[in-house]
Amino acid sequence: MSTVAFVNVALRGHINPTLPVVAELVRRGHTVTYHTTAAFEPDVAAAGATVFRYPGDGPPLAGPPTPVTLLEQLARTALETLPSVLSDLRLTRPDVLVHGAACPWGPVTAAELGVPAVSLFTTMAFGRRVPSPARASRTLLAEALTRPRSLLGYLRARLLLARRYRTRGLPLVDLVNARQPLNLVFTSRAFQPEAASFDRAYRFIGPSVGARPSDPAFPFDTLRPPVLYVSLGTVFDAGPSVLRSFVAALAPLGGTVVVATGGTDPAALGALPDNVVARRFVPQPELLSRAALFVTHGGMNSVNEALYAGVPVLVVPQGADQPQVARRVTELGAGLTVRPADATEAAVHALARRLLTEPRFREAASALRVEQRRAGGHLRAADEIEALLRRTGRHEKREA
Ligand code: UDP
Repeated sequence: MSTVAFVNVALRGHINPTLPVVAELVRRGHTVTYHTTAAFEPDVAAAGATVFRYPGDGPPLAGPPTPVTLLEQLARTALETLPSVLSDLRLTRPDVLVHGAACPWGPVTAAELGVPAVSLFTTMAFGRRVPSPARASRTLLAEALTRPRSLLGYLRARLLLARRYRTRGLPLVDLVNARQPLNLVFTSRAFQPEAASFDRAYRFIGPSVGARPSDPAFPFDTLRPPVLYVSLGTVFDAGPSVLRSFVAALAPLGGTVVVATGGTDPAALGALPDNVVARRFVPQPELLSRAALFVTHGGMNSVNEALYAGVPVLVVPQGADQPQVARRVTELGAGLTVRPADATEAAVHALARRLLTEPRFREAASALRVEQRRAGGHLRAADEIEALLRRTGRHEKREA
């Protein structure tokens, strides 16, 4: 049995796909530790990991980020968290470190401890042919110049990181794209754009959905088909008027319309048609297994989970990698996309109607469903981590 340490940013979309992997490693007899914040402690502990808390209570990342503010926050957070992460893990002495690709203190911790590392991509994989939204580019430079405080904050923190720690393996700028000799990407080769341009260090293992704790308070028995589901994720908050307009566009096409309001209080949507259920947070994978359509911001997890269930999507990308995800969905025919500025009630109604009535969208989503499941998910992730442990001589055989 080995000890596997996870370090990750404290964001729902980055944590969710890791939880079934943690649970599987624990089931196979390994000890798993996981650094996170108080907000995620219950979920991480329920998966079976020993939780280490980051210093301070707040989530290290406040959203919604622009590429420059994100880089600044990541570099600063790395400086703040590294002393305690390192002192915890120097005592734990893990055999392998597993970190989010967007968690810059991950590669530094692995280098400081001298242990093999695995990077987890909850977005798609980025490379020369699939540009990362945070790569060094003219656009990033132009944005940086409009945010001189963020730029200076980033440069200062990045310099201090390099002075204080071993930062080999940590990208100079693109801190959301830290690769390791083993990179596990939570989507299928079929979904990954330019999949052939990535070498064997990248394994496209598909969505890691696993079984989430059920939510007995959610009124599944009241849902009527077709179920139409709306969520803009857990980071970007479009506000009540946008959600209200989506609801008005979809209500005449339901069935039941379910809207996850995220940062917006459901009460702020005002009086809603009878066939609408509004909650801040809903059991998404379970809901998708009954849905006919998903209106989403195009977070990679959300799209992965929709395609895992074979549900066509209408993507309204809000930022980050979401425009790339939206483009890929459209290319593969599993949905349509509309820019937020064009997402009027009439436009959303017309696009949703097409997605519901033209069979080709559901057919394409169903084809991807097969690929997403075949990729292996959390079981394959655990296999790959164990194979790395064996290759590096750090896997002790379980006693019979
Ligand atoms: N999620 C959920 N219920 C909600 C909203 C989101 O379970 O009401 C989960 C969803 O299943 C996904 C994650 O939160 O695993 C959101 O990740 P994604 O990458 O789609 O978007 P982000 O929130 O990071 O923008």
